[in-house]
Amino acid sequence: MAQQPKPNQKPSASGLLPGIGPNELKPIKCICGKSIFFPAVTAKFASRFQTDNGLPTLIQLPAGLICASCGKINKFDTTDIPELQPSTPPSPTIGTIQ
Ligand SMILES: [Zn+2]
Repeated sequence: MAQQPKPNQKPSASGLLPGIGPNELKPIKCICGKSIFFPAVTAKFASRFQTDNGLPTLIQLPAGLICASCGKINKFDTTDIPELQPSTPPSPTIGTIQ
């Protein structure tokens, strides 16, 4: 009765409880209604004086998800997920332009 680990199950790397798979999760959609995204990152340079191994390093920081359909950069959190806002449509000015 040994359980074989499924190849597509990543234990706790996603922060999910054991037994919670992608099918249990609510999909997030862009305000345009599509749900395919590219990850966006900002890149920063850490000099050799700023890293613990003494080597200069490229640091990539998550900067949201780019909608594959409309190109909007979505910085989803619990206040910026359109489906979690049942009565208030998201403002067109949501998200900061840098
Ligand atoms: Zn979109």
